[in-house]
Amino acid sequence: MKDYLISSTAEGQARAYVLQSTEMVEHARVVHDLYPTSADALGRVLSATALMGHTLKTPNDSITLRVMGDGPLGTIIAVGDKDLKIRGYVQNPHVNMPVEQYGKFAFANAVGIGNLFITRDLGLKEPYTGSVPLTSGEIASDISEYYMSSEQIPTACGLGVYIEKDGTVQGAGGFIVQLLPDASEEMAELLEKNVLAMPSLSTLFKEGKGPEYVLELLYKDMEYKINEKLDVVFQCICSKDKYRDILGTLKNDDIEEMILKDHGAEAVCSFCNTRYKFNEEELRIILEEKKRGLA
Ligand SMILES: [Zn+2]
Repeated sequence: MKDYLISSTAEGQARAYVLQSTEMVEHARVVHDLYPTSADALGRVLSATALMGHTLKTPNDSITLRVMGDGPLGTIIAVGDKDLKIRGYVQNPHVNMPVEQYGKFAFANAVGIGNLFITRDLGLKEPYTGSVPLTSGEIASDISEYYMSSEQIPTACGLGVYIEKDGTVQGAGGFIVQLLPDASEEMAELLEKNVLAMPSLSTLFKEGKGPEYVLELLYKDMEYKINEKLDVVFQCICSKDKYRDILGTLKNDDIEEMILKDHGAEAVCSFCNTRYKFNEEELRIILEEKKRGLA
């Protein structure tokens, strides 16, 4: 089943985005060779990026989430754009800290203490970055905290990744629900009650319950409407041309060394693990073009 995100409003007082991201997270697991805890962590951050990326306005806008904790996972980064093409990586792809062995706080310990940075690049001179300290290490509550402290929007966020015993991702998704400025006290209480009553998201998605089902639970006892349904994919924007340009920024001596000593060069995209190979001939062309550009 293809991943998608739905956006919705309830009684003009709340809005919610719900995402199913099983395919996207499984794709990330395969390209990055992720072990379970790394897959869980990157899966949550990729999902949060899609949920937040939905609010971007133009095709060139982008959002970047960076979870910088001091735990064994290291830094986790995800980038998304308006059309919900999401990519990302975790510094250490091979972390496996099962709850059975490491206890209830295994995940939080794997993330560690640090900060969540969120950067919105809206095509202005300077991208805007906000941050919050990682409090629970569970990512979802840190996202809620970010909205509260940076944008003063009461927000609840849920994220879940279900990893099967064989290491594959069998369910993933999440939601963000927010109170609009005119929300009544009753509405706030009802939403809070529904959020607290939400069963494990990872299990719901593993059982094949889609975003509509989760939305139904979020908006229990409320009138609501779905406004949009959008595809979400793990997709990088890198290309061989991009790396050709990067090679062209190196010193002539360095390129010559690659030609004479290494007989080629290889660049690996950290976001999607694609390898770009350049042979001697291609490097010579880069070098010649570079010299001509300087002349
Ligand atoms: Zn890439």
